Amino acid sequence: MKPNTMTALEKSKPEEGLWMVQAPVPEIGSDEVLIRINMTGICGTDIHIWNWDEWAAHTVPCPMITGHEFAGEIVEIGKDVTGLEVGQRCSGEGHLIGNDSRQSRAGKFHLDPGTRGIGVNEQGAFAEYLKLPAFNVIPLPDDIPDEIGAILDPLGNAVHTALSFDLLGEDVLITGAGPIGIMAAAVARHAGARNVVITDINPDRLKLAEHVAPTARAVNITKEDLNDVMSELGMKEGFDVGLEMSGNQVALDQMIEALVMGGKIALLGIPPGKSPVDWSRIVFKAITIKGVYGREMFETWYKMIAMLQNGLDVRRVITHQFGVNDFEKGFAAMKSGQSGKVVLDWTGA
Ligand code: NAD
Ligand code: ZN
Repeated sequence: MKPNTMTALEKSKPEEGLWMVQAPVPEIGSDEVLIRINMTGICGTDIHIWNWDEWAAHTVPCPMITGHEFAGEIVEIGKDVTGLEVGQRCSGEGHLIGNDSRQSRAGKFHLDPGTRGIGVNEQGAFAEYLKLPAFNVIPLPDDIPDEIGAILDPLGNAVHTALSFDLLGEDVLITGAGPIGIMAAAVARHAGARNVVITDINPDRLKLAEHVAPTARAVNITKEDLNDVMSELGMKEGFDVGLEMSGNQVALDQMIEALVMGGKIALLGIPPGKSPVDWSRIVFKAITIKGVYGREMFETWYKMIAMLQNGLDVRRVITHQFGVNDFEKGFAAMKSGQSGKVVLDWTGA
């Protein structure tokens, strides 16, 4: 029997923090499922919501149960849902889309302009139960544990960005060794890149990059010059592909300089506001730039699960795991800049 109320982490009032509350268990519609949450990942977005910065205050209505990275088990199924079963382990895409935009009707669901995010615009996954359209459910194979299920969302950002361009035999520069940049380094190597170089300014992050993706060359950009790293690797003309994962303007400038003529950049990092770009440099180097948002629904999910089953190993990017009652410790770890992914266990809630 499902209870009437559940424990949840909520932005209850428009100020810093999240509060553990009792909330009603969601009622599902005919095309939705109810998921019992086992494990959740804390995302940078959740930190923005915790801090209640300008973006959060403008975007997130209160009260809001936050969180969008999760793994759990289906406990109830709407009457029109087919192909899913009670008891099935799953994760899911947290972007809820409509089906009448041009892009949705073309099958490019991740480009639907009316997208709404769970934990941002709709009640989210930091709760014992989550309601989700059956369309968004991703069943988890037995060989993918819940803690990996709970980080598939950011792994999806890494995979979507890394697979934007053909990486086979290419030299790849990643700027920003946050959890997503580090996972992208592992993915780039798995996808057949020759040299993978990842930069950061935070030594803890670079140490983690070396631990999770040991075949990538981690570079502290405040201490080393990319030209020296290129010569060390025997590279002559520059990187073929750049994955920008810091949101930092200096990093983008360095990437543009370090790219080969005709190089390609996938931009995932979100700069804080407008940021100046040397467009003529981009024109004269004939660089292609692609903005990346979210994950492809559902090709990225297919590819990342296939790669995880085929030897891609990102487990070590999870540096902290707490029971949900210690959620404040989890958020503190995330804010310290010394963590990789932080996951919360809901099974003891
Ligand atoms: P993060 O903040 O944990 O990591 C960013 C890293 O960049 C940090 O380790 C920081 O030290 C590093 N950095 C700062 N200045 C740098 C510089 N000059 N050179 C190199 N590195 C530098 O973020 P994350 O969770 O790994 O996410 C990566 C980026 O992607 C963030 O900007 C995030 O906002 C963005 N993001 C975008 C989407 C999307 O859909 N487009 C989705 C998720 C995250
Ligand atoms: Zn996320």
